[in-house]
Amino acid sequence: MTSKYARRVKNAKPSAIREIIKLTQKPEVISFAGGLPAPELFPIQEMQAVCDRVLKENGRQALQYGTTEGYIPLRQYIVDKMKKLSIDCGIDNIGIISGSQQGLDLTGKVFLDEGDVVLCESPTYPSAVNSLQPYSPRFIEVSMDDQGMDMQELKLLLEENPRTKLIYTIPDFQNPSGRTMSLERRKQLIELANQFNVIIVEDSPYIDLRFRGDFLPPLKAFDTEGRVVYQGSFSKILVPGLRVGWLCASREILRKYTIFKQGVDLHTSTFAQMQIANFVETFDLPGHIHKVIEVYKKRCDVMCNSIKREFPAGITYRRPDGGLFMWLELPESMNAAEILQSCLANDVAFVPGHAFFPRGGHYNTLRLNFATMPEEKIMEGISRMGKVLKAV
Ligand code: PMP
Repeated sequence: MTSKYARRVKNAKPSAIREIIKLTQKPEVISFAGGLPAPELFPIQEMQAVCDRVLKENGRQALQYGTTEGYIPLRQYIVDKMKKLSIDCGIDNIGIISGSQQGLDLTGKVFLDEGDVVLCESPTYPSAVNSLQPYSPRFIEVSMDDQGMDMQELKLLLEENPRTKLIYTIPDFQNPSGRTMSLERRKQLIELANQFNVIIVEDSPYIDLRFRGDFLPPLKAFDTEGRVVYQGSFSKILVPGLRVGWLCASREILRKYTIFKQGVDLHTSTFAQMQIANFVETFDLPGHIHKVIEVYKKRCDVMCNSIKREFPAGITYRRPDGGLFMWLELPESMNAAEILQSCLANDVAFVPGHAFFPRGGHYNTLRLNFATMPEEKIMEGISRMGKVLKAV
């Protein structure tokens, strides 16, 4: 049979990170590669109780089809949660999605025509690029520093690219850089989006995982024109396996997302939504998040201290204020992909940084996840990496 694939299949690439994760499945490998939350912190007993309760009290509804917009008690909980983040919204502004990843695919469907421009941080979350790529936009990277996107460069790019539809940003504890956008830049970003009439996709699965510094309101809190599509997720604060996230957007925009979601999966698993709704009603989610943050903070400190002790001079890193990730820059002459091969031979893994740049390059950078591994493994893994780096 000759190929009948759509043109977009030619440009579809497997996720580089998922390919690396395949190589880290052996139990002896210490992996700092994936974006996984720490599994030993999953509240398994509580989830068991919640499952039993949902099935016992509401089994027929839990196992039935549901509405595309989502389970009302869960949407109502999210309205209250958004209020705590300084976002004033109603239930009609909240739509449940199957993980925030689904929001990215729906964003492509709702907003992108071939050749439209998407401005994104440099580096950025590669699975966002993979989700939007089938809609054939042009990605343009915007440089970052420790305050987030460079606003002057952003303004210039907006002036030069009238076909800009979207600005995609992860303002809090960014994946992969661990950086957080400053308050001033948040306000500037909204002003620029208003001025140039573009949509902002605020992808924020890590906002609740702050272990240092003061809370910063999301971009959506400054959105007076309904142009920010905020994406939240239960993956990093509760469990990723249930695949439940949400969108917070203007009613008009949300309606478009809902129509396209109908074509993708009709609705997010009713059972999963009811489990989460029941969990937040019965148990203490903020208390659970607090426990998670305490563990991640310690692990982050252990990783930073181990790096200081074990890595040769000339490698720079910044201690993040939350989230899961830390970003490292090696001397220009070093290639993180080559170093990964030697590290894999020593049963330790990370993700080379070039995977996070839509236009490639930056071969001397890498991302470490400090959250998944227990402290002893972090020390051992960083020690193994240190030996490889010293040898190079
Ligand atoms: N956005 C970002 C920035 C992420 O890091 C992730 C998960 N690694 C996602 C979206 C997807 O998360 P989920 O679909 O589990 O909510």
